[in-house]
Amino acid sequence: MAKTLIHGLTQNELTDSCAQLDLPKYRAPQIWRWLYVQRVNDWDSMKNLPSALRAELAERFLLDSAVPLSKQGEPDDTCKILVGLHDEEQIEEVLISAPGRRTVCISTQVGCRFHCAFCASGQHGFRRNLDAGEMVGQVLLAAHTFSDKLTNVVFMGMGEPLDNYDATLKAVRILNNKDGLNIGARRITISTCGVIPPIERLATEGLQVELSVSLHAPNDELRSQLMPVNRKYPLADLLKACKAYFAATKRIITFEYTLIQGVNDRPQHAKELAKLLSHLPSRVNLIPLSPVEEFAGQSSPQEAAEVFMNTLEQAGINATLRRSKGSSLKAACGQLRFQRSSDSAVPADE
Ligand code: SF4
Repeated sequence: MAKTLIHGLTQNELTDSCAQLDLPKYRAPQIWRWLYVQRVNDWDSMKNLPSALRAELAERFLLDSAVPLSKQGEPDDTCKILVGLHDEEQIEEVLISAPGRRTVCISTQVGCRFHCAFCASGQHGFRRNLDAGEMVGQVLLAAHTFSDKLTNVVFMGMGEPLDNYDATLKAVRILNNKDGLNIGARRITISTCGVIPPIERLATEGLQVELSVSLHAPNDELRSQLMPVNRKYPLADLLKACKAYFAATKRIITFEYTLIQGVNDRPQHAKELAKLLSHLPSRVNLIPLSPVEEFAGQSSPQEAAEVFMNTLEQAGINATLRRSKGSSLKAACGQLRFQRSSDSAVPADE
């Protein structure tokens, strides 16, 4: 019998599983607390469970859904962890510290099928979806690694979260559970490269999560070159879906825009972008490119990035210029996974 990842069960599903094992009603809350309040990572630590029950749980469920293999950087700045999964696949998560915030950026797929030109994950193809338990496992690993409390979760690592919709939403609900990790929905961000049907579906979920849409170009011609998804879901349709999302949820959407020198960072691109977003309450995050071997583009110089931001602001668009966190430790998604054999990553337990 294949084992189930226990971190992929909602509280109700865990209760049902315990009922199927004819356990007393108090067992499910006990186990839930061990998983998400005490956050133990071995069955023997669950001291108030009889040893026979611990053995039975170990037979049926997997507890180690995300195992750290190596890390680069430091948790009190920016830290990237290479994570091993139960089937030997590998993914990455990034931990980012800022005053008052401890954010983890988690992966939702092994690889990705969307082939964005500037992304290592996209260049190496798709292998499989993650289970909700593997997403929750990444968050638990981050909570363990940060010395302070984890405050924010961003579904923006390897993979397209809305291409793995059900597992992503299930993970959100497990993270949000008040008896468990209790991470508020407004502190959870789901990112998308612009796949329209699941954006429409997300608008109906009644969740207060933040939505972040990667634009990276202000017109179809350029966006289709950088992001093939644009050929199927062009900008006019995407912006229409974003407007409908805002109308349904009243949640302001954040648009991500990676600045690539000489490609999409000219003042006229900023003017086009401002026009595109002029009828939609929005924020724009400008992020200098983290160079990857698979893409010849370079990060915009600071001066060009500032001109771009000022042009947006003069047009009334709320824009923030971000530091590309961790470009020095190859933090663009997918890079650590493909460099493991040659880089200077240190074992995660050091
Ligand atoms: S940027 Fe995101 S959607 Fe695009 S290829 Fe990379 S992981 Fe996939």
